[in-house]
Amino acid sequence: MAKPDYYSSLGVQRGASADELKKAYRKQAMQFHPDRNPGDAKAEAKFKEINEAYDVLKDDQKRAAYDRFGHAAFEQGGGGGGNPFGGGFEAGGGLGDIFDQMFGDFMGGQRRGGRTRAGNDLHVKAEIDLTEAFAGTKVTMRVPTRVSCEACGGTGSEGRERQNDTCPACNGSGKVRAQQGFFVIERSCVTCGGAGRVIRNPCRICGGQGTVQRERTLPVGIPPGVEDGTRIRMTGEGEAGPQGAPPGDLYIHVAIRPHPIFAREGAHIVCPLPLRMTQAALGCEIDVPVIDGTKARVKIPAGTMNDEQIRLRGKGFSVLRSAARGDMYLKVRVETPQNLSKRQRELLEEFETEAHNNRSSGSPEHEGFFAKVREFFDGGRE
Ligand SMILES: [Zn+2]
Ligand SMILES: [Zn+2]
Repeated sequence: MAKPDYYSSLGVQRGASADELKKAYRKQAMQFHPDRNPGDAKAEAKFKEINEAYDVLKDDQKRAAYDRFGHAAFEQGGGGGGNPFGGGFEAGGGLGDIFDQMFGDFMGGQRRGGRTRAGNDLHVKAEIDLTEAFAGTKVTMRVPTRVSCEACGGTGSEGRERQNDTCPACNGSGKVRAQQGFFVIERSCVTCGGAGRVIRNPCRICGGQGTVQRERTLPVGIPPGVEDGTRIRMTGEGEAGPQGAPPGDLYIHVAIRPHPIFAREGAHIVCPLPLRMTQAALGCEIDVPVIDGTKARVKIPAGTMNDEQIRLRGKGFSVLRSAARGDMYLKVRVETPQNLSKRQRELLEEFETEAHNNRSSGSPEHEGFFAKVREFFDGGRE
């Protein structure tokens, strides 16, 4: 089945503004939210579809990639983009995040209530070079975390036998009520952490928590084309849950160090190209570096101007989950020579005399401007 176009999923025009996108997204998300359509598989599918569409379109760079390459920009497998360690990618926030942002506590409470507390999510930063972001890389992360206690097998009970008593503080409900002014508020029980049960005979190593503090070393695959700020989620690699509860997730936040030569603009690479005045005037061939570590020979035509851009197709950055590559733009900067040698000075003086005495000096803009200047003064005199 062909995937629907992201814009039509949200019911907006291709040129829609960020505001229009957000409005359309909110409207549809409210309509198709699973909490409002319990058991409706169609609504759920639609909800996923609009979330996926909005995740891409709200991000300028991803939107640009989508506009250019369509769904191919985000497909798995192309260009070796998959994460070998089973991590999932997120275009800046999964469903959970969207729920939390939009519906806050009022639905979050319902959704999470009554379940066993899972381990904490962990967030770590992975700093990589631009060339590593281009080619993809493997980094080894050292993550301070909590792992399952070996002594009690994560149960928190001495001798591994799970023996719980009903929590005396909350009588097993996991919640306690407290009077605060006129109101009675209900909060999670501190004694049992909301579980409703306490351990009869806590493990001496972990004190009944079922987890111990440890530093884990974890290899993380970073795919080609990642952007600064990309978040990689590794499901189940967060902290171990207390007393055998499921683990949290690990989020790797990718930060890309600035490169001394190349600047990235989405899928494109921009690189300055300073040229000697004479190279620009006479034309030349020059080798330039490419982000993939190769060289490209570029022909600079005679008469190249300052600020001119030279485009090298397909020599730009990699696109996440795609075999496509952007372009490279060389931005010409013509450098006026300074600290001339005696000989250089003589040659340029000769050049200048020639240009001054000749009607076509080779600098039409200069001639045109000073022709207007003469007219300006002549006109003013009458
Ligand atoms: Zn233990
Ligand atoms: Zn309790």
